Amino acid sequence: MINRDKIDYVSEIKRLKKKKNVIILAHYYQTGDIQDIADFVGDSLALSQKAASNDADIILFAGVRFMAETAKILSPEKKVLLPDMNAGCSLADSCKPEDFKKFLEENPGRTVITYVNTNVDIKVLSDIICTSSNAIQIIESLPSEEKIIFAPDRNLGNYILSKTGRDIIVWNGSCHVHEEFSLEAILKLKEEFPDAKIIVHPECELPVRMVADFIGSTASLLQFTKKDNASTYIVGTEPGIIHQMKKANPLKNYIPAPPRDSTCGCSECSFMKLITMEKIYRCIRDERPEIMIDADIIIKASKPIIRMMEISEKLGL
Ligand code: SF4
Repeated sequence: MINRDKIDYVSEIKRLKKKKNVIILAHYYQTGDIQDIADFVGDSLALSQKAASNDADIILFAGVRFMAETAKILSPEKKVLLPDMNAGCSLADSCKPEDFKKFLEENPGRTVITYVNTNVDIKVLSDIICTSSNAIQIIESLPSEEKIIFAPDRNLGNYILSKTGRDIIVWNGSCHVHEEFSLEAILKLKEEFPDAKIIVHPECELPVRMVADFIGSTASLLQFTKKDNASTYIVGTEPGIIHQMKKANPLKNYIPAPPRDSTCGCSECSFMKLITMEKIYRCIRDERPEIMIDADIIIKASKPIIRMMEISEKLGL
C-alpha cells in the first residue's frame, strides 16, 4: 500500500512531468500549491490559447471539465487529462442541450455566441465562443445590425448588453459562486476599509456590479491590481486569484468579497477545488482520467472556438 505521507508531490509531479513531456495548465481558481506547480496559469482565454500551442505530448488540466474539453478540441492529437472528472461547472450545467436547441428554434436568425463555460454539446450549437476577457470585443467586432443570442450566463450577458447596446437575447443561466456575494457584507467591508477598491467579475449580480470600482475578467482584475495604486481591494470573484495578486504585489491587502452565508465558504468554487496535488500526481502517473470526445464532435465544436481565437488574435487580445 502507498504511504501518502511519504510522497513528495511537488518533486514527484515535476519528475513525471519531465519524463512524460506533460504540460500542466492551471486556472486562476486553483489552490496556490497547484498554481505554483503549473507550467502555465491563466484564465479561460489564455488557457485555450496555450492549449492550442504547446510542444507537450500530454496536457494535464488543473481546472474544470469544460476547460479540459476545450483543450482536447484544440489539441485533438494530444492526450488531455483531468484529475477529477467530477470537476464540472454549475454555469455550464445551467444550459442543457435539449432546452438550448428549443431556445434557438424559438429565436431564429440570430448569431449564437456562447461563453466558453459550456459543455461540448452546447459549443456544437454555437457560432462563436467567447470568454469574459473578450466577450465585449467579439460582439463589437460583428456588424451593428447583427442580432445575437448570448448564453449561458445572465449576469455577463446583461453586462455585455449594457456595454454594447446590441440586440442580444440572454439565456437565463448563472454561476453559483459569483451569485453568492453579499452586497450588504461588501458595503460593510467598504465602511471598515474606506480606501479599498471593490473589484468584481461580470458574472456577479447587478447590485454588486453597481458598487464596483472596476469590473473585469479574472485576468483583468489581476492586471488592475498590478497597475492601480490602491493598497486594499475587496475582490468579488473566486478567491483563488488572490494567490497571483499577492505574488505580484505582496504588500497590498486583498479581501475576498464575503458570501451571503458566512458559514458556507461558498464563494470558493467547489468544482475547481476538487483538484488536489494528490490527484494531479496520480493522474500523471496513471495517465487517466482522460478526456475523450468523438472526432466528429471535435470538428464541429472546434469551429466556434477557432473563430473566437481568430477574432481575438486580430484584435490583439
Ligand atoms: S466559478 Fe462558476 S463558472 Fe467558474 S467553474 Fe466554478 S461554477 Fe463554473
